Amino acid sequence: MSKIAYINSKYIKFNNAKIHIEDRGLQFADSVYEVVAIINKNLVDLKFHFKRLRYSLGKLNIEYKFNDKKLTNIFIKLIDNNLVKNGIIYLQITRGVQSREHAYKRNLKPTLIIYTQNKIFNLPNKNFKGVKAITHEDLRWSRRDIKTTNLLPNVLAENLANKRNAYTAILIKNNKITEGSHSNIWIVKNNKILTHPSNTDILKGVTRTTLKLIIKEFGLKLSENSFTKKQLYDADEVFLTSSGSFVTPVIKIDSKLINNGKIGNITLKLAKLYSKSFINE
Ligand code: PMP
Repeated sequence: MSKIAYINSKYIKFNNAKIHIEDRGLQFADSVYEVVAIINKNLVDLKFHFKRLRYSLGKLNIEYKFNDKKLTNIFIKLIDNNLVKNGIIYLQITRGVQSREHAYKRNLKPTLIIYTQNKIFNLPNKNFKGVKAITHEDLRWSRRDIKTTNLLPNVLAENLANKRNAYTAILIKNNKITEGSHSNIWIVKNNKILTHPSNTDILKGVTRTTLKLIIKEFGLKLSENSFTKKQLYDADEVFLTSSGSFVTPVIKIDSKLINNGKIGNITLKLAKLYSKSFINE
């Protein structure tokens, strides 16, 4: 069966799915997106993704109203038709099409793009792996709380990481760790968990939100404060979270081994608790 995508109210063969050359998403990254994990055909943390999507649309004044149930049904239809067991839903909403100029016109018709990808996730089973990361200057704009497709600094940092055989880049602004190029970053020191506070400097990750609830439920100590590169290097454990990586241990940063290059106990515990939360969903 050929893969299908959903574009502007239509299911269409993936290879025939096209957008206009003057779509503002293409020309100005004037668009927002979400990536939702699919595990055993189930959508992970969906309601938090819808909440953040509304937030991003609102912050950019993109007038697109959606109904959670209807959108979920489109996701399910794509998952079924594309025979996805484990993977992701990619959803993007652009401001729409207009003759090229920076300022946008009112009443544009937003473009909606949804499709699926298969994916193998790093889950805490016998194949659970820790990854390497590099540090890199955070060159992004100052509204990182809005999930836009304005991702070039993330792309360049990630590309450099991959070139150096690392999984990802950890971004630094004014000597403080903000987040990863596509994840939130956490450290553990003396059994205390630390992550950057959710303000305009980072994306408030959906995985981060769920993990915070788990940390609270299991009585672990969490503080939301920014931390330095030195604290990162000196941490007992480091891990990252995202809808594509769930809870993934970071065992080497630049040339510094973390926890002697081994997955830490708290990281493993959190990865297991988090995966339980959606495997039982
Ligand atoms: N920060 C950035 C910059 C990201 O791109 C992502 C991935 N969307 C995250 C954090 C993690 O967010 P989530 O847990 O919602 O996937």
